[in-house]
Amino acid sequence: MTSAILVVNAGSSSIKFSLFMDRSDTLDLTVRGHVEGLFTAPRFVSKAPDGTVKSEKSWPAGDVLGHAGAIDHIIGHLRSGFGDGSRLLGIGHRVVHGGKAFKAPVRVDARVLSHLEAFIPLAPLHQPHNLAPIRRALERVPDLPQVACFDTSFHRTQPAVAQTFALPAGLREAGVMRYGFHGLSYEYIASVLPAIDPVAANGRTIVLHLGNGASMCALAAGRSVDSTMGFTAVEGLPMGTRSGSLDPGVILYLKDQLAMDARDIEDLIYNKSGLLGVSGISSDMRTLLASEEPQAKLAIDLFVYRIRCWLGALTAALGGLDAVVFTAGIGENSPEIRSRVCSDAGWLGIKMDDAANVAGHERISAGTSRVAVFVVPTNEELMIARHARRLLTQ
Ligand code: ADP
Repeated sequence: MTSAILVVNAGSSSIKFSLFMDRSDTLDLTVRGHVEGLFTAPRFVSKAPDGTVKSEKSWPAGDVLGHAGAIDHIIGHLRSGFGDGSRLLGIGHRVVHGGKAFKAPVRVDARVLSHLEAFIPLAPLHQPHNLAPIRRALERVPDLPQVACFDTSFHRTQPAVAQTFALPAGLREAGVMRYGFHGLSYEYIASVLPAIDPVAANGRTIVLHLGNGASMCALAAGRSVDSTMGFTAVEGLPMGTRSGSLDPGVILYLKDQLAMDARDIEDLIYNKSGLLGVSGISSDMRTLLASEEPQAKLAIDLFVYRIRCWLGALTAALGGLDAVVFTAGIGENSPEIRSRVCSDAGWLGIKMDDAANVAGHERISAGTSRVAVFVVPTNEELMIARHARRLLTQ
């Protein structure tokens, strides 16, 4: 009998899901979809991997499905489709925060769930939504095992100096430290590097995850040694709407002189800054690249400049550089941004093959480049499915 693994990524107003069939040597994506408008006008769609719509359902505007109703619908829909004798082995959930304690994915029971709920104050915008479907499935389908996979746990290999803020020690004990995020993406990239290039897999490699959320990670032989995101997913690079690193004095100034409260500042640094804030036009890199406006140019210049600076910093953390990997929406799809980043990094020994870059090849560095440069599509869902299968079949 074929087993399937459901992967769930729950946000504040939508749940995305993917179904992978366990073919023993591979995990094959067979269905993906989402429920949007959980609290407004809910709409369910499931699609084949090629994008063909397989099933749709809409609820009347004003119906509140919530995370509970949505996960009930997704599980019911998928199970009803298993006419061929396949069965659902379990669910793998993306959970943003695993705190200091969870250094790897974990099978969730009521005790683990309450431990994960204790991290809600560390990620109040994401953790409650990630946990809501887990809580519901534990109640409604307790026979269906669930696995939580964290964005933070891949970074627990970082040395203490990379995880520590220069704050009094008691604050670290209270959880104020650099956790790092996008860990499932970096772990996936590290997992495929051995088949792409042994030097990148075993050497000093910087991965640039450039999407709406953007961060960079220094890998030494495939293990995280430092990353640009720290206590929250707002540190580091400017992003679509997030500010990236700020002088902490700015926060105090906003509070004391401009009478902004914590919620105002949160909205500013998460939703109104970054590419959107600087350009005043859009958070979408494609729109900015197509714009003639000076503010759009400044936003892109700032994005590329911060990447340039962090490349230097992470190279210093690694003690040298053997390879660079671009991934996520901008990293995978924008030859222009890749070209600008690489030409700024000529001093690090990077030389791009322009034709390979424009053609979208996997290796985009010139044969004479001392540092190899790759474009590798990330796949966080597959990483979650792999973890869930391992934990549920061992
Ligand atoms: P998320 O963090 O939401 O998963 P993605 O990884 O999907 O984000 O990345 C979204 C970003 O990728 C957007 O800024 C979008 O403009 C950018 N992007 C997608 N395709 C291109 C492209 N061809 N050129 C430039 N940017 C692109």
